[in-house]
Amino acid sequence: MDLNVMIGGVLQQKRALDQLVESRKGKPRSEAILHLRTRDALLSVYAAKKNRANVGVRQVIIPAAYPPCELPFTSLKKMRMQDLLLDIHHRNDVLVVRVFGQPLESSSVQTCAAVEDEHGEVEQISIYHFGFARWADQTLHSGDVLAVKAPYLRSMVGGGAILSVYHPSDVFVLEQDHQLYPAKWRKSGSHVNKSAAQWKLDGNEALKDKNFHKANYYYGRGLSASDLDDELKCDLLRNKSCVELYLGQFDAAKTNALASLLNKPEEKSKQLDSKALFRAGRALYELSDYQEAKDAFQKALLLSPSDKDDQSQLKHTVARIKEETEGLFNFASISKTVNSSKNIHVDQASYLSRTEVRQTEGRGRGLFTTQDIACGNIVLCEKAFTVGDTPKDINNQDCVVSPSSKGLLWGGRTEAWFNAVRSIFNSPSLAPRLLALCVTCKCPGKVHSRMTETTVPIVDGVPVVDVFRVMEIIEANSFGISGSANNSNSTGSDLGMACAVFTRTSFINHSCLGNAERSFMGDIIILRANKDIPAGAEITVPYKPVDGDYHLLKSSLNMWDFQCRCKLCLAEEQWGLSRAHILLSAKSWEKDNPPASASGIKWARGLEASKASHISSVEEVFIDQLSDTYPEEIFAGLPKIGLMKRRLWLLKACLDSPAAGTMAYQIMEDHGLKMDFAVSATGETLVFDRSNAIFTHDLVECFQLMSRKITGGPNPFKKLALETYIIMNGSAVGYEK
Ligand SMILES: [Zn+2]
Ligand SMILES: [Zn+2]
Repeated sequence: MDLNVMIGGVLQQKRALDQLVESRKGKPRSEAILHLRTRDALLSVYAAKKNRANVGVRQVIIPAAYPPCELPFTSLKKMRMQDLLLDIHHRNDVLVVRVFGQPLESSSVQTCAAVEDEHGEVEQISIYHFGFARWADQTLHSGDVLAVKAPYLRSMVGGGAILSVYHPSDVFVLEQDHQLYPAKWRKSGSHVNKSAAQWKLDGNEALKDKNFHKANYYYGRGLSASDLDDELKCDLLRNKSCVELYLGQFDAAKTNALASLLNKPEEKSKQLDSKALFRAGRALYELSDYQEAKDAFQKALLLSPSDKDDQSQLKHTVARIKEETEGLFNFASISKTVNSSKNIHVDQASYLSRTEVRQTEGRGRGLFTTQDIACGNIVLCEKAFTVGDTPKDINNQDCVVSPSSKGLLWGGRTEAWFNAVRSIFNSPSLAPRLLALCVTCKCPGKVHSRMTETTVPIVDGVPVVDVFRVMEIIEANSFGISGSANNSNSTGSDLGMACAVFTRTSFINHSCLGNAERSFMGDIIILRANKDIPAGAEITVPYKPVDGDYHLLKSSLNMWDFQCRCKLCLAEEQWGLSRAHILLSAKSWEKDNPPASASGIKWARGLEASKASHISSVEEVFIDQLSDTYPEEIFAGLPKIGLMKRRLWLLKACLDSPAAGTMAYQIMEDHGLKMDFAVSATGETLVFDRSNAIFTHDLVECFQLMSRKITGGPNPFKKLALETYIIMNGSAVGYEK
């Protein structure tokens, strides 16, 4: 798949659609193409269509962002399908429709169906995020009756129109006893009058079949049955909390488990309460509330001291608390789990207490230290809020045209969007962590009603999540991490990357001369200080891997609406000229001439000296040309990024030469590391002024090469190599290899 062709094509479609929408907005529904306006036409089309959720690359084009409806049913007016106008949101209305024919999944986030209203008018509907449904079933069936809040009939690329629902709280599957359920569609023999006990049995049956949505729904119905007594209520709440755990509805699981406690002295009651406390503990654990989780497991163990599950969960929880409070992580074992299980989800707590979010001067919010952090130590270690894993097959995924930036979301990013919406929809107490993140909204007009609010309101029993706001947050704050199916190399693009959002780390601002380095292990990010950072200082990292092309860096920082004013950028501004052409030729030449083609020949064997020196001299010319772009009067003491890789090439080629030591020191200088010769002329330690330094994997390699080269006598590179490796990689895992 040629990504650029695909993006170009899909963006072109998007522009055509925008024009169509502009010309049709507010016009009657008859303006759209009419060929699917009969029941029979729709039935035959849907009978012929196949589910596309597992086939090919699916392009999802969203015309424009809009906020979810926040009005309850009681404030909405029931409207007729025939009164729908094209491409506008009927914000004060609700439309009740019935599904007919076979619905189909047109992508992993989208379900489509043919629907009719009470008056026999027909339309198609497409519903996003349907799978989060709070009703009996995750899939849509023929005969289901839907209430669509703020209905929106939008134009499609081909000229037709489709009722579209993007926000999960804008559509409900109605029960027969709902006030909006049309009387003429009611069936006899409905389950309206079931007893609470019968609902419980139905729920247990569904649970046995692992149909958690259905079980959850039945238990919920039982709880509102008219003959409910206290004992049944506790049973239903306890059972409901069990299925809610499976469904990822952790807020509800916690609340219902705790509400089910009997607190009676009988043995039977103790056993049931112990079960409920275990569920509360599990929910609290998943909500990262480890102290409360520990409390719940301990209480459960008091009631049933020999319970193995309680014991093992308590052990896990205590380990999380240690990570959270002391920053003690077993990176070797985490890395082993990630590599052996091919699972990027790591069961770890976040260690954040050394940092806090504060207002900066002139660059929005930033992250600051709350204590002194010595060079090499952990600044923070954060578990991702949400992760979108690598698509197993890059030719089978959803590409979503984001309505705000007109960019494209694909692979791990689509998945991360989907997962983030689901997790705050399922557990609204998690929403503030995500919604506090910074977004510069590029939507035309003011489309997000609650841009500054971080909680989600609950309307008609359902959390109201603005999926477009979540998408913007993902676009602005996601990191590419390596996914479980590591196919990023084979495609040469980041289509194969997984994507993660870290809600604390996202507040870090950029500086080319950052004081911390980030690395990833599964879905955790590790941040280590690359110099001593005093308490109260702002933490910064370079957003992009360093490259000597300043103009490229500047334009990519513009994506975040950010201008770097570090000493290096000021020097580059003063210098003003581009060195991109030299870098390009050097890089392409190095690709064809690996250092091994020159190494060892000249110095070790004295053979083919002319060839080796010829190759080296080409590299030396690049170095000379690049050195001229770093005049000392402007760049003194600052990193010379364009030179680092060239000099590392030379060091590798000439490692056996007596000049290797000098080359290594030059590489350090290229990184802005100023050696304090007075302190470190001899011995095992080299002392640097690191204040203007940058750190790279090239530097690690340079230290490792020198460390191996020096045999016998003091070897200052040995310690440096390990220290720098840990700073760059988060831990010493993999160092010996
Ligand atoms: Zn926006
Ligand atoms: Zn800078």
